Amino acid sequence: MQEVKFVYPLLEEQKRVVITTHQKPDGDAMGAALGLYHFLSQLNHHVTVISPTNWANFLDWMPGCDKVLDFENDRELASKIISEADVLFCLDFNILHRTKNLEPVLAAASCLKVLIDHHQQPQVEVFDYGISNVHKSSTCEMVFDFIDASPFSTLLNKDIATCLFTGIMTDTGSFRFSSTTAEVHRVIAVLKETGIDHTEIYEHIYDNFSESRLRFIGNALLNRLEVLYEYNAAVMAIPKKDLVKYEIKTGDTEGLVNYLLTMEGIKLGALLIDRTEERKWSFRSKGDFDVNVFARLHFEGGGHRNAAGGRSSESLEENVQKFKTVIKEYEQQLQ
Ligand code: 5GP
Ligand code: MN
Repeated sequence: MQEVKFVYPLLEEQKRVVITTHQKPDGDAMGAALGLYHFLSQLNHHVTVISPTNWANFLDWMPGCDKVLDFENDRELASKIISEADVLFCLDFNILHRTKNLEPVLAAASCLKVLIDHHQQPQVEVFDYGISNVHKSSTCEMVFDFIDASPFSTLLNKDIATCLFTGIMTDTGSFRFSSTTAEVHRVIAVLKETGIDHTEIYEHIYDNFSESRLRFIGNALLNRLEVLYEYNAAVMAIPKKDLVKYEIKTGDTEGLVNYLLTMEGIKLGALLIDRTEERKWSFRSKGDFDVNVFARLHFEGGGHRNAAGGRSSESLEENVQKFKTVIKEYEQQLQ
């Protein structure tokens, strides 16, 4: 994988560009994709953002979101656009299988592939150019760096900034995670100077719950939470019947795992959701406990040190039991 700066000369002539990201894109994934979209569009490239799946409707307000293709809705068109592309940008994922059913289409694409990402252990052999930096707060911060270091940095505008602010805000837990460096705040200052409304952005993402989503959280905290004090851990398992009862949609469970770490002394929070296709884990930790390693070793997953995910084809009960068994190995680390 060559350095990402070697992509700039390629952008001097009109190209067919596809931007994609991980399945069920979150604020950082969608923000990075759309931020880059608004940048490259000004350079007169033909740019298409393709998401592997649908996304939470609290991202729909983002400028350009109405033009994003959902691969699962329109496989033929999306596959055709990818097969005809000159350049493919892969944002906010480290390994092609994070794009679910889009993986074989991306793998078969003959165009130049560019990675911009902050996850551990990227599949570098897949990409021609790129940058992977686990110390970056977000892929949106990295897209900012990409634009800022380019010969076209004056093209930064309010639409780009709105998208990039969204992802930096969501991936830093609103500027509180340890990844929030002084540099992040400097980037935010530059974004702010384009005229973005940060209050409005925050409200779009966080103050838009339906009544049923709020009641779902209430029920989860009341009835689905188990605290394992001897391990300073908490686990919450959401059965399918809760998802049905409260009409839970994509994105509605986002943030739920963070409640577990709001309890004093809790260092590991684990949320398990009974999705149709699989059981999906979300892990969060405080301090040195590395949930990326934990998820990789035990639950076919990965991510970052303090935020990772995993999955399993076994039942909800089997997963909870497995969690309670494997956590015994970590009693010392969690003290
Ligand atoms: P979340 O719990 O919010 O779904 O994910 C937390 C972090 O872990 C994100 O950075 C996400 O990209 C990563 N992640 C989530 N699920 C998986 C997974 O199954 N495999 C890998 N490698 N990373 C994951
Ligand atoms: Mn991210």
